[in-house]
Amino acid sequence: MTVQSVIEDLSKRPGTGDVIPVIDPATEEQITEFRDAGAEAVDEAVARAKAAYQSGVWTDLPARQRAKVLWRLADLMDEHAAEFAELESLDAGMPPVQAEMIVSTCAEFFRYYAGWCTKLNGSSYQVQMEGGVNSTHANFHAYTHKEPYGVVGLIYPWNGPLFNACAKVAPALAAGCSSVVKPAEETPLTAVLLERLIAQAGVPDGVTNFVHGYGATAGAAITAHPDVEKVAFTGSTEVGKEIMRNAADSLKKVTLELGGKSPVLIYEDADLDMAIMMASMGIFVHSGQGCVCGSRVFVQRSVYERVVAGIAMIGDNLVLGGPKDEGAMISPLVSQRQLDRVLGYIDQGRKDGVEIVSGGYRLDRKGYFIKPTVVTGVDPATSRLYREEIFGPVVTILPFDDDDEAIAMANDTNYGLAATVWTTNLARAHNLGKRLQAGMVGLNCQLTFDHNVPFGGYKQSGLGKEFGYEGIDGYLKTKSIWAAL
Ligand code: NAD
Repeated sequence: MTVQSVIEDLSKRPGTGDVIPVIDPATEEQITEFRDAGAEAVDEAVARAKAAYQSGVWTDLPARQRAKVLWRLADLMDEHAAEFAELESLDAGMPPVQAEMIVSTCAEFFRYYAGWCTKLNGSSYQVQMEGGVNSTHANFHAYTHKEPYGVVGLIYPWNGPLFNACAKVAPALAAGCSSVVKPAEETPLTAVLLERLIAQAGVPDGVTNFVHGYGATAGAAITAHPDVEKVAFTGSTEVGKEIMRNAADSLKKVTLELGGKSPVLIYEDADLDMAIMMASMGIFVHSGQGCVCGSRVFVQRSVYERVVAGIAMIGDNLVLGGPKDEGAMISPLVSQRQLDRVLGYIDQGRKDGVEIVSGGYRLDRKGYFIKPTVVTGVDPATSRLYREEIFGPVVTILPFDDDDEAIAMANDTNYGLAATVWTTNLARAHNLGKRLQAGMVGLNCQLTFDHNVPFGGYKQSGLGKEFGYEGIDGYLKTKSIWAAL
C-alpha cells in the first residue's frame, strides 16, 4: 500500500461537485485533486450506514469481537505508520517527527476504546413505591441500558486530520454506531488510508463511510440528514453554531469541540526557563494551528520584560520548514486562506497601534510560513487580534499585578477551552485552577494529552467531551427499564 496509491485512490473517487485541489502547504504545489462528493453521495453513505446499523452486523457482534477488530485496526495502523506519517506531513506540512508521534497516538485510540467495548454497563436501582393497588407498597427493579445512537455524523478539521478522525471513529465503533465521516477538504489524505485499514481489520461494509467534500455541501448534508441521530463535530465556533442551528429541526444530538483563545498565566515564582519554553512551544508549535494553543500570555509585572524577551527569542530561533527541509521544527500554515487570515489580523493590529516585538511577516520563500509573532501593547477591550481566535503563530503578552487581575483578564473571553498556570506556589496553582473558566487547566504543564482524560470546552469552546469514558458515552443513549416485582 504505497503513499502514491492512496493519493490516486482519492483522485478517482466519483463526485458531482466542484474539483477540489489538495495543496502541499510547504511548497504550494498541487498534490492531487478530487471531486466534492455532494449531497447525493451523503444520502447514499447515510443509507449504507443505516442498513448496516439495522442489520446488527456490527452493533450486535459480541463486545469481545468488536474489541478484537479495534485492536487489529490499531496493529494495522502501527504497521502502516510510515505511510500515515508521510501522508500527514505532505497534507498538513508537519515535520516527520511530529507526524510520527501523532500516528502512534492515533493507533492508541483504537486500543483504548477496544477496552471499553466490554464495559458499557448501566446501573441498577431497587425502588419501593408507597400505596400500591393491592398492598401498602409496590417493589420494582429498575435498570439503565446503554444503546448506541445509531447513525452518527463525524466532521473534523484540517489541523490534526488523523488525530481528529481517530478521536471520533474509535469511540463511535466501540459504542456500536455506524457513521458517515467527513474529513476537512484541505487535508483528505490520511482518511483514505484509514478507510482501507478499517475494512482490512474486519469492520463490516457500510459501518464506517467516508465522504469527501466541502463543509457547505457534504458537511451540511450530513448535519441536515434526518437519519443521522447525532453529529460529533470538531472545528470553528462559527461553524459549530451553524451545525447546532441545522441540528435543531430534528433535535439531533451534538458534540462540539470548538475554538479557543487560551490564557497562560506566568508568575514571578515560576520555573521561568521552563515556563518561557513551554509558553513559546504552546503557541508556536504547528504554527499556532492547535485548538489549545496559548495565544494570550499574562505575566506578573516583575518578570514581564524577561518573559517577553524570552518568548520572542525562542520564536526568532525556531526553524520553520516543510517535511523535506532539514532540521525544520515548525510547519507552515495549512493554506493560502489561513495565511491571509493570520496576516490580516497582524495588519489590523498594526493599524490599532500594537507593538510587534518579533516576527509579524511572511517568510520570503514558497510555502505558507509566518514568522512566530510576539505582540504587546494591545487594548484588551477592543483589539480583534487579542479577542478573536487567530489560529496562527501569534501571541499577545500583557502584564498583571495580582491573582484577581490575572483571573479577570484570563476569563474575559467568550472561549473556554484550555488554560495554564506557571507558579511554584501550589496552593495558588490549585486555587487558580478552580477559578479559570476552561475545560482543561494545566498547572505547571502545557500541551498535555491522554486518551483516558476527558477533554472539551466551556463557554463557546464547545459542548460535551471527547476522550475517556465521557468520550464513548457521547455515542450512547441511556434507556431506563422498569420491572414490577
Ligand atoms: P471549520 O469549522 O471551518 O471546518 C471544520 C470542518 O467542518 C471541516 O471538515 C469543514 O469542511 C466542515 N464544515 C464547514 N462548514 C460546514 C457546515 N456548514 N456544515 C457542516 N460541516 C461544515 O474549521 P477549520 O478551519 O477546518 O479548523 C480550525 C478550527 O477548528 C479552529 O477554530 C480550531 O480551534 C478548531 N479545533 C478545535 C478542536 C477542539 O478539540 N476543540 C480541535 C481542533 C480544531
